[in-house]
Amino acid sequence: MQTILIIEDEPELVKVLRSYLETAGFQVLAAYRGDTGLATFESRKPDLVILDLNLPGMDGLDVAREIRRRGNTPILMLTARVEETDQLIGLELGADDYLPKPFSPRVVVARVRAVLRRTQEAAPSREVLRLADLEIDLAAHSVTRDGQFVELTPTEFNLLAAMASQPGRAFSRLQLLEATQGSAYEGYERSIDAHIKNLRAKLEVDSKNPRYIETVFGVGYRFARQ
Ligand code: CA
Repeated sequence: MQTILIIEDEPELVKVLRSYLETAGFQVLAAYRGDTGLATFESRKPDLVILDLNLPGMDGLDVAREIRRRGNTPILMLTARVEETDQLIGLELGADDYLPKPFSPRVVVARVRAVLRRTQEAAPSREVLRLADLEIDLAAHSVTRDGQFVELTPTEFNLLAAMASQPGRAFSRLQLLEATQGSAYEGYERSIDAHIKNLRAKLEVDSKNPRYIETVFGVGYRFARQ
């Protein structure tokens, strides 16, 4: 069961939200001040925080900052007015969604579900492959070699990620083509050769003697075991 922490100083609002969220199958914790809310956050580690902006004890903005410093727990921020929401979005304090008051509790439940779905989809793929001096962050779609950022196109990244996920395995051009689906691709197996050439130029110290991406004659390519 997922736990939602509501930090909100209006008891009536907490009561309504609690009842809707519990009906929707969530476990609900509540705090009526910013400082006690942060303490509850630390001791209970909820899956999501519904956070009011104007709170006694500690301002909602400061609570949000403190939560962010401690990790990626999603925050749904409640604001008093639409204008406040606009200002907050400009501040980029890391809330995952904003909801101006008044709102329907049904909308809150829907937003909670949407935020949880979004953040959980992103979570399992947060995997980083470390192969020799290459670091491939599958979620961030970023690659560094020797600590230096290597800029790849989406197609190049997908090719690299597919091969580097299984070092030593030979991939046919067709398999690599399939791996690049989801990013724009030209649709011909031979186009893979052009992408591999570019990828080598960016990744390899000597692209004539590749250390990472090897040619498997008659088959395709593979990421060399390091
Ligand atoms: Ca308030």
